[in-house]
Amino acid sequence: MNAPVYLDYAATTPVDPLVAEAMAACLTTEGTFANPASRSHIYGWQAEEKVEAARAQVATLLAADPREVVWTSGATESNNLAIKGVFEAQDFSGHLITCVSEHKAVIDPAKWLEAKGVAVTWLKPDSAGCVSLAQVQAARRPDTRLVSLMHVNNETGAINPVSEIGAWCRAENILMHVDAAQSTGKLDVSVGGLSADLLSMSAHKFYGPKGVGALYVRRAIAHQLKAQIHGGGHERGLRSGTLATHQLVGIGVAAQLCHAQRVDEMARIGNLRNQLWDGIADLPDVRRNGAPASVSPTHLNVCFGGLDGEALLLSLRDIAISSGSACTSASMEPSYVLKAMGMSDADAHSSVRMSLGRFTTQADVARAIAHIRTIVGQLQAA
Ligand SMILES: *Cc1c(COP(=O)(O)O)cnc(C)c1O
Repeated sequence: MNAPVYLDYAATTPVDPLVAEAMAACLTTEGTFANPASRSHIYGWQAEEKVEAARAQVATLLAADPREVVWTSGATESNNLAIKGVFEAQDFSGHLITCVSEHKAVIDPAKWLEAKGVAVTWLKPDSAGCVSLAQVQAARRPDTRLVSLMHVNNETGAINPVSEIGAWCRAENILMHVDAAQSTGKLDVSVGGLSADLLSMSAHKFYGPKGVGALYVRRAIAHQLKAQIHGGGHERGLRSGTLATHQLVGIGVAAQLCHAQRVDEMARIGNLRNQLWDGIADLPDVRRNGAPASVSPTHLNVCFGGLDGEALLLSLRDIAISSGSACTSASMEPSYVLKAMGMSDADAHSSVRMSLGRFTTQADVARAIAHIRTIVGQLQAA
């Protein structure tokens, strides 16, 4: 039997072979194994050089200054540093604006702050899964300190108007944090264009390794952020801990590849995603969730009306997909993201996410379409 077609790129991407090759060169006794913080010998200097080259590669993708890139273990940690760091710096006073359909890595730190006394406004997305500038403006209070919104939703691919919201925040002297885990390496994430003060990314969402990411911290606001991990003062005091040279080489090369390929690659992936939808759109009771005009080219979230999503996932053995976020698919609860968009429990239960990426081929899409048509036909007849 053929291995199933991988259509779960939004959960994690395979590591690009060029990334793996560069990383492997740090994992041998002859390779760049040293501690990048070792200042007293050539082995340490060589490691530091690689880490700084990676920082420059990530900064290029963001159109940022390399000094604004803080290494972390991934987007979960970046979000925690951004959101908790801003409010800890002002003794947990003030007001945060975020949204109910954010990733748990934003929702949970925001709830933690709420328990500490921070006022939080939880915006609700529209039926497309997006929030608007008008909603943010209406929620604004005199003590609003931070707006934290995702660029692209991990389940639906819905794209928030973050540059518009960011520009307003900048003018109003409110900090803007963007969880860009799903958009980095795919959409334009130049921090100037987004007017972001803080931006989270994760290497394993753009063909790098798991366990490494970065938080962009705009230089002018760096003093307004409190570190969450202490010890040794690495990363300008914002995130202590020995830097993982091989991981950082990985995120650097991954960023460089995306920077070079992003525009062409997204056009190709968007075409494949549209083919996939066109190939199943005529099935009875099949609907596309979200508004196609504001969905990332990588995502397709589909409601198979009347069918149970879990049963569907188990029956679709020739494709590897999930119901949405890896975190919620362990539970049988319907997606909180789809419910926040106004979908019924039943329709949310009947929905699955398909996500495409660099290694998706035309043949993969053809096979997925044929398989979905067969299985959905069988389940609907049952
Ligand atoms: C994957 C993801 C995260 C978490 O990133 P990790 O690096 O896996 O911790 C956060 N936010 C969004 C939108 C994501 O897709």
